[in-house]
Amino acid sequence: MRMSLNIQILIGVILGIVLGMVLAALGPDSESGKQGIYICGLIGGVFMDTLKMVLTPLVFASIAVGVANLRQHSRMDKVWKATLGFFLLSMAIAVMVGLGASNLFEPGKGLSLALFQSARQGFTVKQMSFAEFIAEFLHGLFLNPFTALVQGNILAIVVFAMLLGIALVQGGERYRNVLQLLQEGLEIMLRMVGWIMRLSPYGIMALLAKLVVSQNPALLGSLIKFVAVVLGTTLLHGFVLLPLLLFMFTGISPLRFFRGAREAMVIAFTTSSSSATMPVTLRCVEQHLHVKPGIAGFVVPLGATMNMDGTALYEAAAALFVANLAGIELDLSRQLIVFFTAMVAAVGAPGMPSAGMVTMVMVLQSVGLPTEAIAILLPIDRLLDTFRTMVNVEGDMIGSLVVQRWTSETGSKGSGS
Ligand code: ASP
Repeated sequence: MRMSLNIQILIGVILGIVLGMVLAALGPDSESGKQGIYICGLIGGVFMDTLKMVLTPLVFASIAVGVANLRQHSRMDKVWKATLGFFLLSMAIAVMVGLGASNLFEPGKGLSLALFQSARQGFTVKQMSFAEFIAEFLHGLFLNPFTALVQGNILAIVVFAMLLGIALVQGGERYRNVLQLLQEGLEIMLRMVGWIMRLSPYGIMALLAKLVVSQNPALLGSLIKFVAVVLGTTLLHGFVLLPLLLFMFTGISPLRFFRGAREAMVIAFTTSSSSATMPVTLRCVEQHLHVKPGIAGFVVPLGATMNMDGTALYEAAAALFVANLAGIELDLSRQLIVFFTAMVAAVGAPGMPSAGMVTMVMVLQSVGLPTEAIAILLPIDRLLDTFRTMVNVEGDMIGSLVVQRWTSETGSKGSGS
């Protein structure tokens, strides 16, 4: 059954690309082109809706249960530190790769300023300084849990569920029933994710077709160097550096990892959303890569909102790209500011499509770059978002394996398999 699902997904990927090219050949504005795009949008949208449907209860239950299980093994301290340590390490490497490659290849140096000026007309973004960003970020952490659940505010849900998990453990036996309820809730959600996965080949096909047909080739052409640098470094990070880290810290072979992780990586690629992918990430990590529920339930939901290697890399590279376009030299101290703000921006970006674009403003502002440049980045964002989200999700899965190894958690049965 599982093998056949993998093959179905692969067929979905191929058919999606072919279909997108056919629609592009028909002309996106022709009658049949429009119909095709509409149908693909509908199917892809409903598929993403199904993932989002299970997302909030799943995050809530998995973190509460995850934390509760960790505390039972009095390893919470270790896991917490190992998780943050790995997140910071891998994101710092990603940003350095992005900065290094941008300095080396200097994308944007040759691009005409006319394009820059015309693109920035008519686009306004919310101005946000670093101080405002920090304030908003901190305020967003603590919300009424019902509001957070209704709004699907993942970060606030993560915080509340973590506190709940800690309270459950402190209460011990007294709250056994509540913990059991949450554990069973988690199992039920994972069961539903299994159903949704059966629909995934169709969703993936539709999303990919729409993605292929909606790229603007003219603009893509002039930005090709930047796109190449970002794609190249993102792939380098995802397929060389991260697997290397995994191998160094755990001895797990990249091949074995990718075999277990590919479902989630394909879904991340097609949905461009770490959060929407999270149900599948959790399934891959627990069921294919055999990470204990106690670790997975903690690292994956936290990583889906905080650990974004691809986004951090992109934000740093894009800042240098914009500086080149605007003819501004960024010296070492300013690049250092980019280094830190890119990481904060990645942590602060929710796991949604193009979320990194919103926090990008903060990175640009931190070194006095024109925020209007976002208008240039937007048209290519759908393309780049696919790859960076895939690497974001990959980082979460590798993080779970590394944290499991670092803390050598023995774990407990927290969710079904
Ligand atoms: N789409 C990315 C994610 O969900 C966030 C971003 O825009 O970089 O991980």
